[in-house]
Amino acid sequence: MQRTLTAAAIALSLTAAGAAAAGAASAETAPAQTVVRAGSVPSAAGKHTTFTGSVRHDSVFKADADNPFSVSYVTFEPGARTFWHTHPAGQRLIVMSGAGLTGTEDGAVIEILPGDAVYCPPNVKHWHGAMPGTAMTHMALTSMKDGKNVTWLEEVTDEQYAAAVKKVPASSGR
Ligand code: MN
Repeated sequence: MQRTLTAAAIALSLTAAGAAAAGAASAETAPAQTVVRAGSVPSAAGKHTTFTGSVRHDSVFKADADNPFSVSYVTFEPGARTFWHTHPAGQRLIVMSGAGLTGTEDGAVIEILPGDAVYCPPNVKHWHGAMPGTAMTHMALTSMKDGKNVTWLEEVTDEQYAAAVKKVPASSGR
């Protein structure tokens, strides 16, 4: 009986060794995970042809064939905002900090606060930015279509921005 158990234990351990070897072989052929280390990508200033005020971009991921969307942090200083624009395949925003707002051509304005996640459908004319007295950082996940992810339009005027801010609750970053 003792001998039988030992043989079974050896058989089991050989099977386990075989499985481990097979696992190791597939791990050798699989691509390694990669990490974009914090601080490894320089911040970039938002261009004044597409942003009003002081805006900073921190790129995280560029789009590729399997993941056709870019990921970046965008930080708007108080009063800063995008120009009007559209996204051919839409855009998702997740607010990380501060207080901000986003507006659409129909006059609708949405206050956006940390944790809020906003989906903008394809080709909807809109803008996003900070409140006048408070900065705002959002993560932007922007999808590509035919190699393009944004179409920039005209500036959001001070009058348009002020009118939008008035639609946001007074408690939020004015
Ligand atoms: Mn947008």
